Amino acid sequence: MPVLKNISFLATCRDEGAQGDLHSIRDAALAWDDSQITWVGREVDLSGEYPGADQLDAGGRLVIPGLVDCHTHLAFAGWRTEEFVQRALGKSYLEIAQSGGGIMRTVCLTREADPQTLLKHCRGVLDQMVELGVTAVECKSGYGLDLETELKILSIYRDLNGSHPVRIASTYLGAHVVPAEFKGNRSDYLDLVCSEVIPAVSQADLASFCDVFVEESAFSLDEARQVFAAGRKHGLRPKVHADQLSSGGGAELAAEVDAVSADHLECASDAGIEKMAEAGTVAVALPLASLYLNQVQLQVRKLINGGVRVAVATDFNPGSSPSFHLPLGMTLLCVGSQMTPAEALKAATIYAAKAMEMDGITGSIEEGKLADFAIIDAPDPDHWLYHFRPNACTGTFVGGRQVWGQGA
Ligand SMILES: [Zn+2]
Repeated sequence: MPVLKNISFLATCRDEGAQGDLHSIRDAALAWDDSQITWVGREVDLSGEYPGADQLDAGGRLVIPGLVDCHTHLAFAGWRTEEFVQRALGKSYLEIAQSGGGIMRTVCLTREADPQTLLKHCRGVLDQMVELGVTAVECKSGYGLDLETELKILSIYRDLNGSHPVRIASTYLGAHVVPAEFKGNRSDYLDLVCSEVIPAVSQADLASFCDVFVEESAFSLDEARQVFAAGRKHGLRPKVHADQLSSGGGAELAAEVDAVSADHLECASDAGIEKMAEAGTVAVALPLASLYLNQVQLQVRKLINGGVRVAVATDFNPGSSPSFHLPLGMTLLCVGSQMTPAEALKAATIYAAKAMEMDGITGSIEEGKLADFAIIDAPDPDHWLYHFRPNACTGTFVGGRQVWGQGA
């Protein structure tokens, strides 16, 4: 039975209290048995409890729950470097999409890609996420948009869930954009999503959630309602890409359909925020996407003051967020969103776990939860996010097993 000692600051990140309440313990220790946490407290209170335990030393560092990246588009083929350059030269995201770039470009490449290549790409990214302290990831499909490729992508996530230490929750995002072959024929595409793909995904038990990109250039509120109703019928809970580029009632819709989370929200209305608070919908901030699109960062104070829990994720994808660096996203929230480091840490752990319905097993350091945690080379969360470095994580544990760092 292992015990981790010499923790200068243990951020337990329990759900209770406000966004900034980390429920931290100074000079702490942590013990676990197989995969579950059995004891958390001050090291002085540990004496005699675990005499024969394996003793591990945190070196006076910060220990946090394993980070949770609750919004990624992990499986795709091909990067879109040239669009990054085009945007630097002044082209907008929409202009690029209209000239053959954007999501449809990735869809074409992903349809052609063989599963082994996609699997290798995903595995490579997850390995690097683990080095940053990430232990759970939500993965969306949506770069296939036909039955065959959507099932191909979701099957890769299922394979990874059994073979990679990171915990994965899968989301079917058929309603990402209307694919080129259905242009001018939107209702036929929605029929395919609702009557063929959703039942097939559910039948094969390949996803927990379904997501819709609600935006002027993507899907309307009514179209989203149709997809969510079909999803519900087949056991897929709603998540929404809402109000990213324009205020379109996405936050209100998320509350109406009892979505697990509403993500982006840069342009969400006050009424929408109020409804989200009433419904208990988690807001997911995606600061790396705002950075790459040179958008003003989500103003989280309105959400937090309104009683909405705010999570943070990378939105990792080849277009608007080609980075999977969650700690960078957390620092960006402090700089551009007036969020404190403590609030950003709860956003990347327990609230992110809530946004993918894994908060019952991970996202906080408590007795009975899985021993998913990371050792960070900093005295406390404030200093960690202030003194930003490429990687301050020195050890990552999933289910009590060290998967990265010295000794892994
Ligand atoms: Zn996204």
